[in-house]
Amino acid sequence: MKMLAYPNTEGLCCVGVWTEWLGTGDRSFERYLRDTVHDFFFGQWFYEQNPQLPERERWPFGERSHGRLGLLEGLGAMLDMPATDAAVYPALHYLLEEAVIGPNALCPCGSQRRFKRCHRAHLWRARKQIDLVTIREAIDHLRLYT
Ligand SMILES: [Zn+2]
Repeated sequence: MKMLAYPNTEGLCCVGVWTEWLGTGDRSFERYLRDTVHDFFFGQWFYEQNPQLPERERWPFGERSHGRLGLLEGLGAMLDMPATDAAVYPALHYLLEEAVIGPNALCPCGSQRRFKRCHRAHLWRARKQIDLVTIREAIDHLRLYT
């Protein structure tokens, strides 16, 4: 297959952006095909049809990095956090209720704002939307790549 011209160094398929998909709350196979798989194949087709464009403009839906950084980027997007360990890990552990982030503590996103005035409301909503198994798997995958 042509798409194998762009191998992932870890041997994982990019279409497996499963964490973001699971984090949306709609786990239907129809949605996976309509959004994730469609965007992956259309994006690859568009990339191959437009070699004249600058690299970043060749991906119509943007591009995630491969491997661990790509996972951090996906989790960061899901949590509305920067794609860094310093931001994503505390947020994931907060969702699991394994970490307490006080309302007046600095937000883990690095904004220098108090948590209650920054990402607390967003993470509360995320806590209702994303199941614990998905969060635990995300942490396990990050550790796998460490
Ligand atoms: Zn924040």
